[in-house]
Amino acid sequence: ACNDDELSEFLESGIYRFKNSNAVFIDPVRLLNRSHTRFRVSPSVYYSRFFESKSKNSGSQELEVSSDSKKRKRKQKKPHNLNERERVAEQRHQKVKPELLKAHEALLGSTDLLSTMNKLRSSFQSSTTELGVGQSFVELGRVWQAPMYEITLNYQQSCVIDQCSEQRVLPLFNSLVANETNDDVEAEVLNRKFILPRGGSFYMSELGQIHNLIPAESDCGFNLIVIDPPWENGSAHQKSMYPTLPNRYFLSLPIKQLTHTDGALVALWITNREKLHNFVEKELFPTWGVKYAATFYWLKVKADGSLISELDLFHHRPYECLLLGYCSREVSNLENQSAPRPVKDNQIVISIPGDYSRKPPVGDLLLEHAPGPKPSRCIELFAREMTAGWISWGNEPLHFQESKYFLAD
Ligand code: SAM
Repeated sequence: ACNDDELSEFLESGIYRFKNSNAVFIDPVRLLNRSHTRFRVSPSVYYSRFFESKSKNSGSQELEVSSDSKKRKRKQKKPHNLNERERVAEQRHQKVKPELLKAHEALLGSTDLLSTMNKLRSSFQSSTTELGVGQSFVELGRVWQAPMYEITLNYQQSCVIDQCSEQRVLPLFNSLVANETNDDVEAEVLNRKFILPRGGSFYMSELGQIHNLIPAESDCGFNLIVIDPPWENGSAHQKSMYPTLPNRYFLSLPIKQLTHTDGALVALWITNREKLHNFVEKELFPTWGVKYAATFYWLKVKADGSLISELDLFHHRPYECLLLGYCSREVSNLENQSAPRPVKDNQIVISIPGDYSRKPPVGDLLLEHAPGPKPSRCIELFAREMTAGWISWGNEPLHFQESKYFLAD
């Protein structure tokens, strides 16, 4: 009966908490849907990878992946002497490995959840929208006409804001576009349709304009800051997906100026490169004024519950790290300032990945650890999607808000 409760709670909330474990399984589609009132995220579009599928495209992708991993396996068999940095990385991995294995065992032991996972992709009526490739906002923002592009917000008849008109037209780039209503709003850019969640805002710009988000008053600053930087990693595939930046650019992010008077929880996604761990620990967090608190791990599984790659594959770990720290506007505050609930180290979030480089929506899991008044003020930097009540900043924060990622209504 206990398990039934867990499962029905999961179907409701998108979060499955394993008993006696520091791990949770989440369904990003359900979590994303919390932001929306009239529209639903399309599970078949979100879960375009890691589900067995007979369709031609995903079939060939899976073949590629498996032949790739065979190659890797062969490579791995050759004993290879690790250099100093690789040794440190290996130590880091060995330290967390038992926790990750335990979390994975908890998942494999939850047979009710496992049988539901297979259905996550098809649990709603499947969308028939064609996934055409429109021009990306990154490209659009770079042309000389960029300052002239506009976004049209089309409000519902029953708009809750007093005296608002049915439409509002705003500059698309370098301007704060907010949906102040309590309902999803449909918006239009160059004949493409986008869904803006209730209370959600975006500011689409390049890094140079991020200072425009610094609040005039620090009690208007943010209590939760989620950051997923475009780290360089040298893969050609990544380069074709979005532009990346050398590490030194991230040193100048105005994290302290964005922080609320009562402090902020800062959550930073990093890749598994040891060099990066080192850079964040020794340079980035100290420069930002962030005090390290804990690490969360995102463990990636396929729909059948298996890991997306072997745990010990050196360059293709089936997990990523989310580093958490606290930022305070005053240095002296850091010591006596405490989170409402201290963050436990080594928490593990398990999910089936969506699109390339898309992170699972962990905002709700982090909120309980954010300092300051409730509701918390939240911002996501380098965002590709919007969340109800949050500000999303980056050069393509509307990316996953396009109607093709939602079920056709
Ligand atoms: N968290 C996102 C998700 O889950 O989909 C992925 C973010 S991705 C790692 C980094 C983002 O930063 C990309 O959307 C990229 O276009 C954007 N970016 C790269 N260079 C930028 C710049 N100079 N200014 C603003 N955004 C930039």
